[in-house]
Amino acid sequence: MSTRRKFLQLGTLASFAPLSKVFARFKSKLATKPVVVSTWNFGLGANLEAWKILSSGGRSLDAVEAGARVPEGDAKESSVGLGGLPDRDGRVTLDACIMDEFANCGAVACLEHIVHPISVARKVMEKTPHVFLVGDGALQFALDNGFKKEKLLTPASEKAWKEWLKTAQYKPIANVENHDTIGIVALDGKQNLSGACTTSGMAYKMRGRVGDSPIIGAALFVDNEIGAATSTGVGEEVIRIVGSHLVVELMRQGNSPQEACEKAVARIVKNQPVKSKEIQVGFLALNKDGEYGAFALQKGFTYAVRSPEVENKLFEAKSYY
Ligand code: ASP
Repeated sequence: MSTRRKFLQLGTLASFAPLSKVFARFKSKLATKPVVVSTWNFGLGANLEAWKILSSGGRSLDAVEAGARVPEGDAKESSVGLGGLPDRDGRVTLDACIMDEFANCGAVACLEHIVHPISVARKVMEKTPHVFLVGDGALQFALDNGFKKEKLLTPASEKAWKEWLKTAQYKPIANVENHDTIGIVALDGKQNLSGACTTSGMAYKMRGRVGDSPIIGAALFVDNEIGAATSTGVGEEVIRIVGSHLVVELMRQGNSPQEACEKAVARIVKNQPVKSKEIQVGFLALNKDGEYGAFALQKGFTYAVRSPEVENKLFEAKSYY
């Protein structure tokens, strides 16, 4: 190769990959520890299941699905899966999505009668040419794939709904469990990232309302070169900024997971300077090196971390207000 050509090639390399980035990529290749982070207190139980898979060399996709299924199947959790609070007509409608290291993704929204929408979302990803199924079509697909039709409205949730009907005022309250979603993102021992997100959405929402949780890019985004992010809180505000995609893109620009979450929250404040004082939105992010960060509009957003160094611990995110 001529010296001039070699020089040109080196020049191109240098301009596309500054030394710090080359070093970062090298460092990230060395870090093979698994990490899983998930939103809210129920993230602890989710992490336990996810960790069983991650710590035995399993895939992050299997880990996040297993983790998300924990609050989905817990009738006492009133914001996810079985026992989720219903819409204003008394119907429990669930939203979920999942994404793997190859940018494969699947989602379901407004799905009724199925306890584990995250597993239906995974089936959509793996068994159909589509990404997103909703309503009756999602239910039909679930039943065709062996999921059982069940009653999701528990006596406790029905009682709460009947109580709500007395005033019938739709007013999400920050950090009170009339909403809250499990978002869970993980890095496995092969350094692959995946994420899952599942919810019953905002309690007493309008029939047919879908929030951010099943929307790839809004409540969940994974880019295996960079990192993964998830969100919780008032989904309408997350959709407006395509929040999780924004967080991942901010990480791509060199921000740490913490900085990226802070900048995404600041974007919501800029959009909604008044409303943002009253509502909750939180972001949680994990990068390819296993570093994580979280930030919320209001105090009280908790997230759970499990890694070789952190024995499944709950943290409270810093907040804008
Ligand atoms: N993001 C969910 C939704 O808007 C609710 C939540 O996480 O609090 O449906």
